[in-house]
Formats: sequence, structure tokens, C-alpha cells
Amino acid sequence: MKEKGLLIVLSGPSGVGKGTVRKEIFSHPDTAFEYSISMTTRAPREGEVNGVDYFFKSREEFEALIKEEKLLEYAEFVGNYYGTPVDYVRETLEEGKDVFLEIEVQGARQVRKKFPDGLFIFLAPPSLSELKNRIVTRGTETEDVILNRMTVAKEEIEMMNLYDYVVENDEIERACERIKAIVVAEHCRRERVEPRYIKMLEVE
Ligand code: 5GP
Repeated sequence: MKEKGLLIVLSGPSGVGKGTVRKEIFSHPDTAFEYSISMTTRAPREGEVNGVDYFFKSREEFEALIKEEKLLEYAEFVGNYYGTPVDYVRETLEEGKDVFLEIEVQGARQVRKKFPDGLFIFLAPPSLSELKNRIVTRGTETEDVILNRMTVAKEEIEMMNLYDYVVENDEIERACERIKAIVVAEHCRRERVEPRYIKMLEVE
């Protein structure tokens, strides 16, 4: 029997650059994982292609998919639905290929429940680590702005606790390298590798 693929979930706060990082990863021909194209009810942006960037659906079509339990997860984000097709994900994992999801945080939470042994990577904004420094050294921000930034930062840090790894998106290329390195390491994790060896002994 073929070993199952790894479900890789890249998520993080809105505006952190998840889409950019994902596109960069998949622009490299050596990328060995499969991107799961999401469904959405939002209108295509200029240059976006149905079946490449997203599967563009009407609200009625999307709601039918929810009812038929065709989605591994879904969320409403800025007035539109976004969701991951469950059949594609399960079939591709069964084929032994790694599947890569790039989704927002509510969706990631749902996936964690269904795939607790997935690999969850949180993409963090560099502003989080820069925040304190900036506030302290510049002293130019009003108290309101500082408080607001601190609240947002606190929420973002709280989001992290669901994830296995945190990658700071300080520079796109470096963030991509770290993500790929994490995937390689995850494949070598003892819990994942051990069953293969145990099976080998059973055959002997
Ligand atoms: P955009 O409209 O800019 O393409 O995407 C908006 C947000 O939706 C991004 O944060 C993106 O990661 C997220 N997103 C894209 N596809 C999915 C999906 O299938 N499920 C969920 N939950 N979020 C998604």
C-alpha cells in the first residue's frame, strides 16, 4: 500500500502575503507538492483563470457544495465564500502526494480538527517582531495608533497557537525556503517514518 501524502496548510493573518508566498513556491519547477485550487464566490480579478486560480462559483452553487459536504472547510471572508474541495484533497493524499492549502485562519482551524496530523504553518508578519522596537524607538505614533497596533498584534499572536511552525514573512524568497525546509523535516519525523520500518519487519 502506498504511503499517504502530507497535508500542508499555510495560513496566517489577512494581508501577511500568503498568496504571494504560495505563488512563489509553485513558480519553482522543483516544488513537489500539489496545490489544492479553492472554490470561491468572489468575482475573478483581472488575469485570473477559472480552474487555475480558483473555481469560481455562484453563491447557490457554493451553498449546494456545503450541503453535499463537498468541502473540507469553508469560510466567509469579506462577504465571499472560500472553500477547499474535499475529494481532491483526499484522493491526492491517497496517491501519496503532498497537498498544499493556502487558506485563511477560520478554515485552517476546521482543517486542524479533521486532519490533526497535518502540517500547519503560520505565516507571521515581520511587523510583529518589529513592533516593539518601532514603538519604543520612534516615539512618533499617537497612543491610539500604538494601542491599535498592539491589539492587532495580540490577536495575531493568539492565532499562532493552533500551528506547528511559524515562518516570518520578512522576505518572500527566504520565507519560501523555510517552508520547504519544514516540509522536508516533517517527512523525516520519527512518528511518520516509524510505521514504514515496523511494516518492513512484519514482512520478514
Ligand atoms: P483572495 O480573495 O485575496 O484571493 O483571498 C482572500 C483570502 O481567502 C486569503 O486569505 C486566502 O488565503 C483565503 N482563501 C483562499 N482560498 C481559501 C479556501 O479555500 N478556504 C479558506 N478558508 N480561505 C481561503
